[in-house]
Amino acid sequence: MGIAAINPATGQTIQTFEPLSSADIAAKLAIAQQTFESYRHSSFQQRAEWLHRAAQHLLDQKQDYGKIMTLEMGKPLAAAVAEVEKSAWVCRYYADQAAEILADQVITTDASRSFVRYQPLGVILAVMPWNFPFWQVFRFAAPALMAGNVGLLKHASNVPQSALAIEAVLSEAGFPTGAFQTLLIGADQVGPLLEDDRVKAATLTGSEFAGASLASAAGKQIKKTVLELGGSDPFIVMASADLETAAATAVTARMINNGQSCIAAKRFIVQDSIADAFAEQLVHRYAALKLGDPLHPDTDIGPLATPTILQELDEQVQAAVAAGGKLLIGGNRSALQLGSELQQGNFYPPTILADLPVGSPTRQEEFFGPVAMLFRVPDLAAAIQLANETPFGLGASAWSQDPEEIEQLIDGIEAGSVFINSMVKSDPRLPFGGIKRSGYGRELGAEGIREFVNIKTVWLK
Ligand code: NAP
Repeated sequence: MGIAAINPATGQTIQTFEPLSSADIAAKLAIAQQTFESYRHSSFQQRAEWLHRAAQHLLDQKQDYGKIMTLEMGKPLAAAVAEVEKSAWVCRYYADQAAEILADQVITTDASRSFVRYQPLGVILAVMPWNFPFWQVFRFAAPALMAGNVGLLKHASNVPQSALAIEAVLSEAGFPTGAFQTLLIGADQVGPLLEDDRVKAATLTGSEFAGASLASAAGKQIKKTVLELGGSDPFIVMASADLETAAATAVTARMINNGQSCIAAKRFIVQDSIADAFAEQLVHRYAALKLGDPLHPDTDIGPLATPTILQELDEQVQAAVAAGGKLLIGGNRSALQLGSELQQGNFYPPTILADLPVGSPTRQEEFFGPVAMLFRVPDLAAAIQLANETPFGLGASAWSQDPEEIEQLIDGIEAGSVFINSMVKSDPRLPFGGIKRSGYGRELGAEGIREFVNIKTVWLK
């Protein structure tokens, strides 16, 4: 496909880019390393000033940046604008908190004085996905820059305009040339970068395949990685829950970002006695969703980001049906009613698959689009067992009014986060990440900024 911005609602190419040559990459690496030598000595106050300026600029231009994202990857414009606002929030959070989180930590021992000092590592490579083109990058860039590291971004090949816009935001905010650079390169150009001594660590958000590939290459070089990979988050609803609120939230939790979020709820696990009522509500609410042009304010669901994602999702749904899953709504692209200008768009209808039999392969997979899987369970133990059935462990949402059930849910679910009576969301103040095949390491919060630092023990006698 190459590096290209293609409007997923219409199939029209907006702009194409030539990937950087090896010489271009070498030049950018040299600038990054050179900048790090001085940037590492800049004060927290100075870095915070630049980052606050970047935040303000994002807020001032949020409509423009939102539109870039919508045109490149298809999320509804209001959601794209909200993403720009959230990106400003993470900048402000780390600008205000980094000095305190990374201050020397005094630890009493038998030394005259002993403490831990957090120091930057150097050039950090970020390989990022297209689904949240701004948010994913800023949640890496803000802590990395505040910690005194410098960043190189290899963004997904279908969001080059977002990638360039982010580089410009940080540069115009005052960060020195080389502190944060976008590399327009393909996935095959990542390996050689990891072999370069100047690149000290890498973070990747994306698929399991890409994560494993990057981590193996980095592992050979003894370089630290953070991986934020896929998920098939459970959304458990117990009979004691507020059914109405749970059902309303279930729609947002599944459909957010046209269904293409790692922490979208993907498997709805509902206690028997309320399962029919829940399914009925979900179908009713799905039927009311408006599919269409993501620039239009009335649109709830835009297109999927690429034709490949559309095709893969459709194949998954057909496989699930062939394995015995029941379609409660959707699952049929040809029934979509779209205007002529959207005929080439990557649209997929809101779909609910119920009662996938035990052992069918798709139960273990992530559906990266507006497709929900619905399961019924007799009790809490069965709900937790089913929640833990997949190889993933990113987030989980659980609904109950019973304190004992809530405690068991918090304790028993295998995931990086558990949200009770709420959908899963990321928040700059809270660590974010997964276990099992959803990855390792954390972004956001105090844990996120401490991933890419040398935790230096100091002992004075
Ligand atoms: P992807 O294909 O893995 O792409 C993600 C990034 O990795 C892109 O920049 C891609 O570059 C690059 N890449 C692909 N193969 C690579 C390789 N072998 N070596 C190095 N880099 C490589 O992911 P996707 O399918 O577009 O994104 C969706 C996935 O991301 C879903 O599974 C979703 O759950 C996950 N995700 C996870 C989180 C989280 O925080 N846990 C957040 C968002 C998304 P190209 O575009 O050039 O191929």
